[in-house]
Amino acid sequence: MTNTMLITGANRGIGLEFVRQYAADGWRVLACCRHPDKSVALTELAKQHPGQVMIHALDVADHAQIEQLAKVLSNEAIDLLMNNAGVYPASDKNGFGRTDYAEWMTAFSINAMAPLKMVEAFVDQIARSRRKLIVTITSQMGSVADNSSGGSYLYRSSKAAANIVVKSLAIDLKDKGITAVAFNPGWVKTDMGGPNAMIPVEQSVADMRRVISRLGLADSGKFIGNDGIEIPW
Ligand code: NDP
Repeated sequence: MTNTMLITGANRGIGLEFVRQYAADGWRVLACCRHPDKSVALTELAKQHPGQVMIHALDVADHAQIEQLAKVLSNEAIDLLMNNAGVYPASDKNGFGRTDYAEWMTAFSINAMAPLKMVEAFVDQIARSRRKLIVTITSQMGSVADNSSGGSYLYRSSKAAANIVVKSLAIDLKDKGITAVAFNPGWVKTDMGGPNAMIPVEQSVADMRRVISRLGLADSGKFIGNDGIEIPW
């Protein structure tokens, strides 16, 4: 039976590579992005995999749009919901004393609130699937234990919030047989990771897919790295 995944932020970076690799592996992919008309690489992938990669417009900060998409996709069974869309706020580099609070709200809405809203909207479709997996891409920068360099208040706090959202989801959705994990993809060469990043995007995604393929309920509530090793909160 064909597996189905739904992914946010599918037009570039890690999200686009997930679409590429899962599609090549035979999965049906519901690929969500803010601006399908401008998403050239994703449109190309959908053309290469007709009826298998479907593009849907979705700004994850827009809850009405999330609810509307869940209605449109109400008959789906979603084996893997991947909350991938994320932002590193530009002002986060300014450091202490120069916090942009409006930008913090935006980052929080995309990085922390959207993953929960997505699950609230799509929980029925996930619950009726075979795999019943929710993967939220957070970041090691959201680890309290790992914070030895300070700064990045907006990004760190929003990703730490996403981590605790995942932990609560794991507890609340256990009775439905749903597995929820948080993932750190490593420092990956994308627009966000920059050119000096350590890991090519193909490698990070291949590594995460290998770990995801082995996930089960016993892993629910874990914070995992692309190498499969658990990360301290
Ligand atoms: P990119 O900046 O390359 O891509 C970010 C993606 O998120 C884009 O598709 C972007 O769409 C999308 N996005 C941003 N805001 C919204 C929104 N409101 N609605 C829908 N989509 C949105 O980043 P990466 O691919 O590197 O990052 C993917 C995930 O991995 C993020 O959650 C990031 O925090 C996390 N991560 C990345 C690391 C790295 O080293 N690269 C390290 C740790 C975590 P658009 O083109 O429309 O802006």
